[in-house]
Amino acid sequence: MNSFIDSHCHLNFPQFKDNLDEIIKRATNSGVKKMITISIKLSQINDLEYISNKYSQVYNSVGIHPHECINYKDLSIDDLLQYTKNPKCVGIGETGLDFYYENSPKNLQSNIFSLHIDAARRSNLPLIVHTRNADKETITILEKEMRKGEFSGLIHCFSAGKELAERAIDLGLYISLSGIVTFNKANDLRNIVKKLPLERLLIETDSPYLAPVPYRGKCNEPSYITYTADFLAKLLNITLDELAQKTTKNFHDIFKKAI
Ligand SMILES: [Zn+2]
Ligand SMILES: [Zn+2]
Repeated sequence: MNSFIDSHCHLNFPQFKDNLDEIIKRATNSGVKKMITISIKLSQINDLEYISNKYSQVYNSVGIHPHECINYKDLSIDDLLQYTKNPKCVGIGETGLDFYYENSPKNLQSNIFSLHIDAARRSNLPLIVHTRNADKETITILEKEMRKGEFSGLIHCFSAGKELAERAIDLGLYISLSGIVTFNKANDLRNIVKKLPLERLLIETDSPYLAPVPYRGKCNEPSYITYTADFLAKLLNITLDELAQKTTKNFHDIFKKAI
């Protein structure tokens, strides 16, 4: 059986509250060897730490989703760094820009995004970037910050344009693909993905959201990563075995703490 890693899921969400043991078991039975349960706000970090402590194959991140920035106007870098001391905390995010919903003012999102980048540099942990309807601004911040000092990271649930993908790759960043790539209307995304270097690709579910075909619209879970992996292998014209091995290796190249 092939091994996969779900680089981005939200196991603390209410959808999994009553059946997390089963969800984890199904993931294991599907070959999912590791998962990162991703932080969207600091008020939930204890729940994440509880989960990553309970299940050896689950890790967690620390960060504030762009939607939540409005509640963290006075955020300091130490507010983030204090949680990186946990041995199971392997990444900074999710952070970035979401100008689609714009639940938080753009300026505040940008400032908090930069603060996360600084935390990634100082902790030597990879940055997990969320970007929606903000390609240009995301590129500007990533390039400006990279000139200030290097950091590693990925664009999660990639669904942006070609230029963002190419510039992110040029910066040494990775691209993580979700079930969106299986969606009927995602032709533009598929055309971009086909040209991305395999040595920079990761896979994720972003569960409970974005279930891949054939479960589109249902509650997503880490075990469904196999559908996205299978689809991607066909799209990239490689074997599932090769896709599993490469994405697992890429994961460990950036998430060095998740050994
Ligand atoms: Zn996201
Ligand atoms: Zn997410």
